Amino acid sequence: AELQRARSEKLEALGTLAAGAAHELSTPLATIAVVAKEVQLELAEMPVSDDLKADIALIRTELDRCRHILDQMSTNAGQATGETLADVTSSQLIEEIRSLLDVRLLNRLRIRDRSDNAVIRSPRLVLAQSLRGLIKNAFDASPEGTDVVVLLERTDQHLVMTIRDEGPGMPTEVLVRIGEPFFTTKEPGAGTGLGIFLAKNVIERIDGSLRIESNANDGTTVVVRLVRQQEPEEIAAAGALRGK
Ligand code: ADP
Repeated sequence: AELQRARSEKLEALGTLAAGAAHELSTPLATIAVVAKEVQLELAEMPVSDDLKADIALIRTELDRCRHILDQMSTNAGQATGETLADVTSSQLIEEIRSLLDVRLLNRLRIRDRSDNAVIRSPRLVLAQSLRGLIKNAFDASPEGTDVVVLLERTDQHLVMTIRDEGPGMPTEVLVRIGEPFFTTKEPGAGTGLGIFLAKNVIERIDGSLRIESNANDGTTVVVRLVRQQEPEEIAAAGALRGK
């Protein structure tokens, strides 16, 4: 428990740092982006080399990428600045996640909710964004035409969400680096390598866990366990048991 606490304090410090840095960097970055756009527009009217035009286009692409990274880092800001925890039912959580996903992906998302409306206490939006990221990863890895399956179940203590895809899975060299900040195998611009790192951070802060099962060529299964709020009957039953 002591170790757990030290670890969660460390995560919290890291989250605060990341959110602070993201916030500080976003203003100057926005200024640079505006100026870069103006320069590009002016260069377009001038007799300059194609190389120079390509350079300014590259600057703008890379600025976009920086902004994307900062956006993801500040997904964590709600946590760091203490987005309030609220009770959320599994169906509310699913609705929230669905609302964050592209409609084209929704057609290929199979949700099986067997959790009987389990309730969890969480920073609702931040958690939904994190889970959406994991589902998006599953789609990114999925071959055309295959579905992503999300299963929700309840155990004694947890709401368990399992996200399964039929993608290529992860080779060992990827698997060992999973959760490392900025580790990505995606094209520059497509991935930031922060998704799993931040999701794990958010989930562990509310005492949940994230586990990945993957073999090369055999799809990937992501298992997220979230602490379930006990219902009044359960608390009463536990009390009766203790009373014996
Ligand atoms: P990003 O998606 O921006 O790359 P993530 O932290 O979400 O960042 O993921 C890191 C890497 O983990 C991805 O680049 C990819 O190589 C791998 N990965 C994540 N989810 C899956 C999945 N469902 N199937 C295969 N590889 C995955």
